[in-house]
Amino acid sequence: MDFRNAWHRATDEDVCCIACGETVARSDAREYDKYGDRWNRDGKSFEYLCKPCYKECWHVDRSGLEDRLEAAGAGTVSRDAFLRCYHDLAEDAEQTRADGR
Ligand SMILES: [Zn+2]
Repeated sequence: MDFRNAWHRATDEDVCCIACGETVARSDAREYDKYGDRWNRDGKSFEYLCKPCYKECWHVDRSGLEDRLEAAGAGTVSRDAFLRCYHDLAEDAEQTRADGR
């Protein structure tokens, strides 16, 4: 069996974007695996990004994203706490980039 097809069939679930908190269909979300090895799924829980956030994070400026997610406690603190913290960190990074120009 091709397990990638099995993965794509698993669409009857909503997931929460870890960056903006939007609830999106799992089929519309992008898996975010902070360990960078999405095919080794044993014992791992995945986090998800909605498409706009995925695009922003991955194609505009990925630098520092993983640090920010870690620093904000992705997967270890409550969703509200994480989103608040992530938002602050992201704003700081935004500020830093703007100042550097
Ligand atoms: Zn999002």
